[in-house]
Amino acid sequence: MSAPPTPVPSPSAYLDCAATTPMRPEAVEAMLPFLRDRFANPSGSHRFARDARRAVDEARDVVAEVVGCGPHEVVFTGCGTESDNAAVLGAVRRGSGVAVCSAIEHPAVSEPVALTGGRVVGVDRLGRVDLDELGATLAELRAGPGVAVVSVMAVNNEVGTINDLAAVSDVVHRLAPEALVHTDAVQAACWLDLREITPHVDLLSLSAHKFGGPKGVGVLVERGTPRVEPLIIGGGQERERRSGTHNTAGIAAAATALALVDAERDVDRVRIGALRDELVAGLRQRIDGLVETIPPAHKVAGSAHVCIPGVESEALLFLIDERGVSASAASACASGAMEPSHVLAALGIDRSLAAGALRLTLGHETTRAEVETAIEAIDAAVGQLRRHATGAAPGGAS
Ligand code: PLP
Repeated sequence: MSAPPTPVPSPSAYLDCAATTPMRPEAVEAMLPFLRDRFANPSGSHRFARDARRAVDEARDVVAEVVGCGPHEVVFTGCGTESDNAAVLGAVRRGSGVAVCSAIEHPAVSEPVALTGGRVVGVDRLGRVDLDELGATLAELRAGPGVAVVSVMAVNNEVGTINDLAAVSDVVHRLAPEALVHTDAVQAACWLDLREITPHVDLLSLSAHKFGGPKGVGVLVERGTPRVEPLIIGGGQERERRSGTHNTAGIAAAATALALVDAERDVDRVRIGALRDELVAGLRQRIDGLVETIPPAHKVAGSAHVCIPGVESEALLFLIDERGVSASAASACASGAMEPSHVLAALGIDRSLAAGALRLTLGHETTRAEVETAIEAIDAAVGQLRRHATGAAPGGAS
């Protein structure tokens, strides 16, 4: 038998919503009937199957409404990573030419782009894709292998930067009109109205566990007629776009969570943005030299990435975790390994400053008490590490 989990110190603060969000209670409720009585395979032809299929269709309608597309353009997948892989690899297999992405993409995009011999375009200090470099890259590729797809994330998972997809799509349509435009909107759903993004792209990825839904459900929006090869083939589900028996419970819960996020987004953005600003102001007041990586105007309301000189992220995360504060440094998907972040390097942030990176991400459930707990804990931990670095006795938190 495995050991019981270590008790969480009280008070505690969960500030790692970019890694994953707690499930909305309504989404948990929405799953349960499909884990119990309504368990049938939606692809069957009997009444139980029809009932399950109706649930998947209703979920598809909800997702389409929130995203701003037709229900026939929604493809349910197994996660955000699958949606990203399917968009990039599927576009390259179907089209002619290579894939292009920004330098701060999640590995779910950058690795398939690299696999297909694609190209990477730089970003500015705020993490926005360099449109001149994008244009030059497209012009060069058009004279050679061609461009199948350009993938630029809507919101960066580490620093929270918002990209201007209208501007990206304008450059692509002018310089490589045959190329598809994909956006990884996995980190956008809680903070941006997806209806304002969708008209500018051909392909868009979402992941349910980033917006209060369950893990194991993704969405790939494919606008218009399908123009990418399916990644997963077999039984022909999702109108041949993505085979595999539907995760009916997860899909129903994902739609429930997405509808809630959409309805509450405007209120959450204001409340959580204010909490985020309090968090950064509190830390800045107490911690000398702290740098807010991206100014609030350029990032989503839940993101509070900072760099703290003179400390190592790994040690800092360990000490604040002991005080009940959950956060992260680089992307959480890299198995906890503290490699220098490719995102901070692309932003041109000095390696020694990047070594003290701390990603604090807030969400719908975040409270002021958690923010206060985090300020105290981070201040105490930084003090401890800095005293240790200057040779003073490490001591405990004051
Ligand atoms: N894209 C971005 C921007 C992400 O932040 C993540 C997860 O951290 C993913 C894709 C992968 O999503 P999933 O965990 O559903 O595979």
